[in-house]
Amino acid sequence: MFSDVRATVRQENRPVSAEQKFVYDFTEGNKDLKDLLGGKGANLAEMTNLGLPVPPGFTITTEACKVYLDTGAEPAALRAEVSAHLDALEQQMGRRLGDAADPLLVSVRSGAKFSMPGMMDTVLNIGLSDASVGGLAAQAAAADGSGDRFAWDSYRRLIQMFGKTVLGVEGDLFEEALERAKQAKGTSDDLDLDAADLKAIVEEFKGIVRDHTGRDFPQDPREQMDLAVHAVFDSWNSDRAKLYRRQERIPGELATAVNICSMVFGNLGADSGTGVAFTRDPASGHAGVYGDYLQNAQGEDVVAGIRNTMQLAELEGLDKTSYDRLMTIMETLENHYRDLCDIEFTIERGKLWMLQTRVGKRTAAAAFRIAVQLVDQGLIDLDEALHRVNGAQLAQLMFPRFDEATKAERVAWGIAASPGAAVGKAVFDSYTAVKWSRSGEQVILVRRETNPDDLDGMIAAEGILTSRGGKTSHAAVVARGMGKTCVCGAEELEVDTKKRRFTTADGKVVEEGDLISIDGSTGKVYLGEVPVVPSPVVEYFEGTLHAGADEQGGLVQAVHRLMAHADIRRRLRVRANADNADDANRARRFGAQGIGLCRTEHMFLGEERRREVEQLILADNDKDRDTALATLMPLQKGDFVELFQAMDGLPVTVRLLDPPLHEFLPDITELSVRVALAEARKDPNENDLRLLQAVHKLHEQNPMLGLRGVRLGLVIPGLFGMQVRAIAEAAAERRLGGGDPRPEVMIPLVGTVQELEIVRDECELVLAEVAAATGVKLDIKLGTMIELPRAALTAGQIAEAAEFFSFGTNDLTQTVWGFSRDDVEASFFTAYLEKGIFGVSPFETIDRDGVGALVEHAVREGRKTRPDLKLGVCGEHGGDPDSVHFFHRAGLDYVSCSPFRIPVARLEAGRAAIETAGSDSR
Ligand code: ADP
Ligand code: MG
Ligand code: MG
Repeated sequence: MFSDVRATVRQENRPVSAEQKFVYDFTEGNKDLKDLLGGKGANLAEMTNLGLPVPPGFTITTEACKVYLDTGAEPAALRAEVSAHLDALEQQMGRRLGDAADPLLVSVRSGAKFSMPGMMDTVLNIGLSDASVGGLAAQAAAADGSGDRFAWDSYRRLIQMFGKTVLGVEGDLFEEALERAKQAKGTSDDLDLDAADLKAIVEEFKGIVRDHTGRDFPQDPREQMDLAVHAVFDSWNSDRAKLYRRQERIPGELATAVNICSMVFGNLGADSGTGVAFTRDPASGHAGVYGDYLQNAQGEDVVAGIRNTMQLAELEGLDKTSYDRLMTIMETLENHYRDLCDIEFTIERGKLWMLQTRVGKRTAAAAFRIAVQLVDQGLIDLDEALHRVNGAQLAQLMFPRFDEATKAERVAWGIAASPGAAVGKAVFDSYTAVKWSRSGEQVILVRRETNPDDLDGMIAAEGILTSRGGKTSHAAVVARGMGKTCVCGAEELEVDTKKRRFTTADGKVVEEGDLISIDGSTGKVYLGEVPVVPSPVVEYFEGTLHAGADEQGGLVQAVHRLMAHADIRRRLRVRANADNADDANRARRFGAQGIGLCRTEHMFLGEERRREVEQLILADNDKDRDTALATLMPLQKGDFVELFQAMDGLPVTVRLLDPPLHEFLPDITELSVRVALAEARKDPNENDLRLLQAVHKLHEQNPMLGLRGVRLGLVIPGLFGMQVRAIAEAAAERRLGGGDPRPEVMIPLVGTVQELEIVRDECELVLAEVAAATGVKLDIKLGTMIELPRAALTAGQIAEAAEFFSFGTNDLTQTVWGFSRDDVEASFFTAYLEKGIFGVSPFETIDRDGVGALVEHAVREGRKTRPDLKLGVCGEHGGDPDSVHFFHRAGLDYVSCSPFRIPVARLEAGRAAIETAGSDSR
């Protein structure tokens, strides 16, 4: 989501004018001036200029806000400019602000480029005072005599909103007073309060303001307006707004605009009201009438849920003229914005007014459907449609979902922290999670919040549920890192880990061992087992979706068309990280154009191989070592034959052995116990003893920075030679069998060209031998990973010995930042995210300024040495939407990622290509 935010921030340039103008009438702006007028102001101007009924008004620019925030005072020219616009507005409306006989009232509305939590709420009815409330009543009474109630209702709303948002009085104080008045009257409906009641409430509200601010509610209308404007400015720097900006990487210098908009009244009686609407269903994307309407109400009443709203469709029976007009306007808006819009409107005595519009938020499925529908309507082209969807949405559509028809009871609705659908028995501590999952149970780890001690349990669980914490809580961060389903902050649940149970809002108790289901894509928590249905989008990629099964109403069709277009547009190729034929086959079905990373260490695991690997590690002479290698060789070769077959005709980059050797040896504690027991029985096992010695010898303080990667190849004679021989012989065998194998050999953790040169010589020898023995001439490229800062910095030298680079961005991130992923994600990332040090983990999205700069440097230097150097990336970043855009711009040839992320990478590579094309021509 926020990758888009950032992209737009960068692209839009602020107009710079010599003669700075701080106030724009709604007739002067347009929708492209969001930087200057904020989203709300720009769109109000756009609607005004479309000839739609927008109450007249003007916008104070973000530039004025900036001056105010920088200097602590309004720009000198602002006051006069506002006065001039206010005069014009009064002229146009035939009323003066706060006039005792016929007052003009306005709303003061904040409006940044992006809507933002922490920003000041809107204040309605500015201009009302003890002096003008009677005038307003008299004017309103002209129509139906209900003027008094209306005027006092408006006045109490003003004091309440103004008191809370501008003067900082605790909002509950007003709410409680209102509640008491309703109770005294024996009603729960605010419409039952009459003019006299409201008048009394106004007095009480004024008292609350006096008591809590030490001053009277301001009676001067212009002072009300100025104070409200300053409050909006100040709210830009509220703690919440600042934190939100840091986390979403919204630049602080954008600032907010303020809109002054003449009031229209939805609280003037039964023929008035206020509503919200969407131009089509934001959940499904289908056309239709979607919205809510509330009679005789103002502003936020609709969403605040004070009374039951009616469906928008019912408005037709109530006020057909306004309804028809609204439908026409919605069509106009959708055609004009060429997208789904959401709108706010008010009807004042049968006259419709538009108060806001913007391109509306939507679900992932709706995004795909709408984009393609708009193409079919001829409103946008396929490039634009592709631009309108994103990889995060596609990823969401690829998770299995709970059956929507479920009868299971939903007991909580928390924060959707890490997508997926998980079912399991509730457990309340890490130890039980591990124990139960070892005995084959599926468990959901339930905690109030998690901490680093819960890590093992989180790994063992199908999913994680917490009752506290948000999207950057420990549970959320770690679960996302592990790709595990997580719902956090389900506050309705009372979790009692001591008693091993949680209680739902309506008092149901879930004990340890009870089945629950959690939906990490929606945040919903259910009792019992909810059936999981596979994603139709995955079935489509897998080729298992049976014909006519797109019951999702064109969703798969939409995905299909946009994927096809992304494939046409993209320059980046997409490969898979896969080390066996199964993964390779799936990757191919998902559109992989080869394997970018085959990890050979997996070929060193498994019972029979493990023994040979141990012998290899224990060998202290050439003979033993050669024997062990000779036993492993055919096993590896067999693996490669299968892999090359699955990827026939496509490149397969094989990485030689990378991890530290201790990973192949038994656990030190287990082994020590075994040895000690054997000794106690006076029956020592020679092999175990030697293993234990080796384990001690190989023990490292920092295995991540120890004997691994190319270093292994250089200290264990024959190891890399054996692996290369297995690759070459497998390729020769495939070739002789009529296949088209395309292996590439990749050396990990190289820091200097000398390392690579030595390995290169050994490999070339082996390749020549295999060619001579099999009679097959193989062209096997040799390249290196760039995953150490030194390698990136000396890429120009390294390219002399490497035919390709593959950026290992996981290790590169670890070594550039100097922290290890396994240690830090669980320990201090939450704190870093909360403090806004990063908006997202650098292991999720590439750190452009640090790691990214090294990548760019290596690309440049590498290609200087070797212009046809092939460049790719094989860290998990290869499937991260934002990172894919970076790699496209950095000029790589391909990205490689896990099979499941391939469609996401394809889609984003396509989007990246059209975006750069767009910005080049701009
Ligand atoms: P938000 O960004 O929270 O939606 P708005 O500025 O849109 O804040 O205003 C909040 C509510 O007040 C909305 O329902 C809007 O329609 C209503 N409102 C704002 N200005 C006016 C006005 N001039 N006349 C009537 N209602 C208004
Ligand atoms: Mg609004
Ligand atoms: Mg690595």
